[in-house]
Amino acid sequence: MSKILEFKRPAPKKPARQSALCRNNHHKWKVVKDNQFDTRQGKLVTVEQCERCGKRRNVLR
Ligand SMILES: [Zn+2]
Repeated sequence: MSKILEFKRPAPKKPARQSALCRNNHHKWKVVKDNQFDTRQGKLVTVEQCERCGKRRNVLR
């Protein structure tokens, strides 16, 4: 008698859960790269990243 083995498919990776604050656009910004020169805008740009959801933004100084 042959036995049928059933393999469970790995569960799809869920995106990191966002906190309610992040969903409401209240991110916890942390400076990742200070004073990066953006040639397109010709200005110094500080790159900030949210500690909770990983979203990034550029801040012009
Ligand atoms: Zn966030």
